[in-house]
Amino acid sequence: MSGVQRSTRLVKVLGDAAKKLDKARGLGTVGDLLDFLPRRYIDANTSGRLSEFTVGETAVLVATVVSAQTRTMRQKRGKMLEAVIQDAEGTTARLVFFRAYGHESRLVPGVRALFRGKLDAYRGGWQLSHPDYTLVDSDEDTVYRGGLVPLYLHVAGVTDMQITQSMRVVLEQLGSSDDPVPAEVRARRGLVDQRTAYELLHLPRTMGDVGRGKRRLRYDEALVVQTALAQSRHRYDAEEAVPRTAREGGLLAAFDERLPFELTAGQRQVSDEIAADMAKDRPMHRLLQGEVGSGKTIVALRAMLAAIDSGAQAALLAPTEVLAQQHARSIRAMLGDLGEAGMLGAAEHATGVALLTGSMTKREREQVLLDIATGPVGIVVGTHALIQDTVMFADLGLVVVDEQHRFGVEQRDALRSKAVRPPHVLVMTATPIPRTVAMTVFGDMDTSALTELPRGRQPIASHVVPASRPAWLERAWGRLAEEVGRGHQGYVVCPRIGDPDDASLEVTSEEDPPDAESYADGDEGEETPRELHGVHQMLQRLRSEPALAGVRLEMLHGRMPPDEKDAVMRAFSAGEVDVLVSTTVIEVGVDVPNATAMVIMDADRFGISQLHQLRGRVGRGDAGGLCLLVTESDNPETLSRLESVAATTDGFALADLDLELRREGDVLGASQSGRRSGLRLLRLGHAKDVELIEQAREDAADLVSHDPDLISHPALGELVRSRLDDEQTAFLERG
Ligand code: ADP
Ligand code: MG
Repeated sequence: MSGVQRSTRLVKVLGDAAKKLDKARGLGTVGDLLDFLPRRYIDANTSGRLSEFTVGETAVLVATVVSAQTRTMRQKRGKMLEAVIQDAEGTTARLVFFRAYGHESRLVPGVRALFRGKLDAYRGGWQLSHPDYTLVDSDEDTVYRGGLVPLYLHVAGVTDMQITQSMRVVLEQLGSSDDPVPAEVRARRGLVDQRTAYELLHLPRTMGDVGRGKRRLRYDEALVVQTALAQSRHRYDAEEAVPRTAREGGLLAAFDERLPFELTAGQRQVSDEIAADMAKDRPMHRLLQGEVGSGKTIVALRAMLAAIDSGAQAALLAPTEVLAQQHARSIRAMLGDLGEAGMLGAAEHATGVALLTGSMTKREREQVLLDIATGPVGIVVGTHALIQDTVMFADLGLVVVDEQHRFGVEQRDALRSKAVRPPHVLVMTATPIPRTVAMTVFGDMDTSALTELPRGRQPIASHVVPASRPAWLERAWGRLAEEVGRGHQGYVVCPRIGDPDDASLEVTSEEDPPDAESYADGDEGEETPRELHGVHQMLQRLRSEPALAGVRLEMLHGRMPPDEKDAVMRAFSAGEVDVLVSTTVIEVGVDVPNATAMVIMDADRFGISQLHQLRGRVGRGDAGGLCLLVTESDNPETLSRLESVAATTDGFALADLDLELRREGDVLGASQSGRRSGLRLLRLGHAKDVELIEQAREDAADLVSHDPDLISHPALGELVRSRLDDEQTAFLERG
């Protein structure tokens, strides 16, 4: 290896010029600079018209100098250059340089150049003051080859042209180094080598060049993720676990005998898959995807009971306090006296169920910790509090993670590490996830899916309600009142809390903020900001809504004290509250089968999957459900997104649509997007990239099976390690 390497400090190559790059964008090394990819390209031969820009914007265009003259200035020393340029449409603009020096010999009439600068108004026309420019026709003076101009994210004090020049310098001196993608893989997949990829992206001649460069870097991202997953899978396979199987005539059998309904065929199949995994001496790593309301909880509970039958404990990790409380409550209810170990009148095989959350008092907590450590408790339900150091299990055999998308791999692993021997792990996702996401985020696990809903479940009817039509909204409250009149219950969901005495409009950390912003239609046709509905205001308003007279309304949001939240949820479950006005805190898992109606305010503020998830709270019993999506938006794309949610209840189809509509990098939700997932270029919703991911998955499995530690592929090994470091850092930053 010789010359400049990716790890070489940029200052060594570029001198002082590197300092601005570092300061503005943290580009400290050669590799950082190379990975600073253009945001877009313009073709100097065809694009760039003055009419495309408005005053105040940065204009980028190719224009011809039609006249130029220098003038001596009265106030200052030196000369200024004044020129007129004309674009391809014949539109002209005034060009001024307050120091003519250096420019006067280049910007002469007839010359074509690419200009980039802020567009000002000047005497009814346009003006560019000292823009960056490069001549496009002259051989020696042009920076760009073929007239294709890469445009970068703004770097203070550095022009795009200077960036391109820096790229050229760096690429010229870049020594040969190991390519992370082995040559035979490159040949098989038709990929250029790494150095060529950077050249194609930073110094392209055609858009075809750009495409080939991107494909290579996208493949890199896919390969790094898939290699890390293949390695982790390899490690799991090498671990030894204790087989956990149900006992004949044991707790699971006793539970099954009392089940008030029959398991669906899907539930039985998935249960069998889980039982087979847990019977092995290798730890289970299984992802259970399920349509909302498909009955994942029973499946998980049955696995927990099997673990207890074999003498172990099971932990259920839930993302929010509300959900943890509800799980504990419903598991206790389902188990009845089978869950009352230690109490008078408990059943023969009974076990204990404990709840552990962050808001318990010290004394309560200590008692629970003791019970967990000494063993009378078979099932521990908890939030993040479960992961803390002080929590010790007597013998943790099974970890169930509910709504995994809210937890990092690190948290899963932290809980795993509490077991003497690696425990079996079952991860459940709230909503169906597209195949690419499953391959990327959960690629080290086996997957099971529950696609059918329990029999007798009535479909949910959904409708979009334009808030601009008062009569329609009136009707919505009327429908809600009708449901209540029939003895049912309902929800009104708002995008924010709207504390009267709190100026901030933010939701609490327990509740993800609505994520509609990440949809691609946000840029164009920007809607005027409007006040979003808050829980507090909505509760007031609905209490004085004539249609809802006599309806018992309460509110629920994440900023309420935990015991209040629990009290409200209890009252709602018990039917003492008719309508719950809440934030998305009810989004995950809340299960009150008697609730049949939901009105979602500012529905446009929520993502597709989130709406589907919310809607899954109603129609859980046998009475059917109604979901009204209220919006003030008149943006056609927004409305069509809502119409799609209204038109189908197929969560797998909606998950795919969601992925297609989202901006790149946003697929995994705020906490898992971008740097965390290590994906910058790869588009999980894009058919071509799906193929790339599948190829990378195959290649990674092949590489890792022959050489698990990547001894003969050090460059790839290094890349995988650095990605995992980034993930670790991102996790710590997230706290
Ligand atoms: P999710 O998959 O969304 O977590 P749950 O596990 O909360 O769904 O189940 C939804 C509801 O369906 C619960 O009230 C549960 O008791 C009920 N349920 C689960 N399985 C069945 C079944 N086989 N038949 C009838 N009802 C069921
Ligand atoms: Mg659930």
